[in-house]
Amino acid sequence: MFLSDVVSLGQPTVGEEELRAIADVFASGWLSGAGPTCQKFEQRFAEVTGVTDALATNNCGAALHLGLTVLGAQAGDEVIVGDYTFPATGHSVAWTGATPVFADIRPDIWSVDPAAVEAAITPRTVGILAVDVFGQPADYDELRAIADRHGLWLMEDAACSAGASYKGRPAGSLADIATFSFHGRKGITAGEGGALTTNKSDLAAHARKLHTYGIAPALSRENSTDLPIPTFDELGFNYRLSDVAAGIMLAQLDRLTTLVAARQAVAAQYGELLGDLDGVTTPVALEDRVHPWQSYVVTLDPDVDRGRVATYLKANGIQCNFGTYASHIQPVYGFSGHLPVSADLFLRHLAIPMHANLSEDEVDRVAATLRAAIGS
Ligand SMILES: *Cc1c(COP(=O)(O)O)cnc(C)c1O
Repeated sequence: MFLSDVVSLGQPTVGEEELRAIADVFASGWLSGAGPTCQKFEQRFAEVTGVTDALATNNCGAALHLGLTVLGAQAGDEVIVGDYTFPATGHSVAWTGATPVFADIRPDIWSVDPAAVEAAITPRTVGILAVDVFGQPADYDELRAIADRHGLWLMEDAACSAGASYKGRPAGSLADIATFSFHGRKGITAGEGGALTTNKSDLAAHARKLHTYGIAPALSRENSTDLPIPTFDELGFNYRLSDVAAGIMLAQLDRLTTLVAARQAVAAQYGELLGDLDGVTTPVALEDRVHPWQSYVVTLDPDVDRGRVATYLKANGIQCNFGTYASHIQPVYGFSGHLPVSADLFLRHLAIPMHANLSEDEVDRVAATLRAAIGS
């Protein structure tokens, strides 16, 4: 089988526009991070996400760490985290010294169950870190009400959510701070990259300082006529996105609407082709939110052998994967609770190809092969 016969699980959409954007950055002479191209990207990303401030970072984990740090998370604190996610979410809490307290998820859209959040609150709880699972926003009205009632802050792990919205409000604007990923497996990408978005300019300014070792970015000194000498008064990091990557992201932002529409069309086609297949439940997009479909994940009935289905798909040129992780069972966290919904879906989810370059024929082929795999 030729590689081109394989239907890949995920694929970036990049081409001439991105190459031109890279050439523009080369011509500007500013390739390092937090430069003029990053600034331009940040302005446009703030518009897209409906916030006052966006900060470009080198990945989503860095943005999560910055967000938690400027919100004050520290040793002795507990942060309630949606369990079903790539473990960058839990890791970022642990990096601050705080304890991630994982909470179980909704069985339909897999984001954190607000009732489970409420039940996990203790006197040490300082905040809630919800995850928009595969890009579909969590229940921010309910989560905000809980946060307000208990004096907690609210963060949105929007790693997969570029282009998503909740009740008409864009992902990125749904919590005190949100964080995005531009890793190659996300809906828009620069290979690696991330962003933090917020409407709180004091938090944005602090995050900006910490993302460049604890001083103002060099761009702010670029046009000075005297000799400004920064002082380091706080231990920051290098979490900058390079301007080369920011150039790619500008081109990706131009594509965002088209890319999300293409993924939605794939999801609709899968829904039609697989909706009646015994043994398989197709994923739900709720009416009050826009789902950008970072991944398309079906739930297999408990009696379907997922390993066998995966082997069949791969043998027939269809890439697939599990869904994402049940965080609470990962040994790194030493978490003692049991979260049955997340633990169960971790065993039954199957991600099938989802990206903006899939043709209708390819989607047909994936669906027919999955049908054959289940029936075989
Ligand atoms: C991909 C992902 C991350 C990590 O993003 P990086 O940019 O690789 O750090 C974090 N959270 C979720 C929900 C993700 O899907």
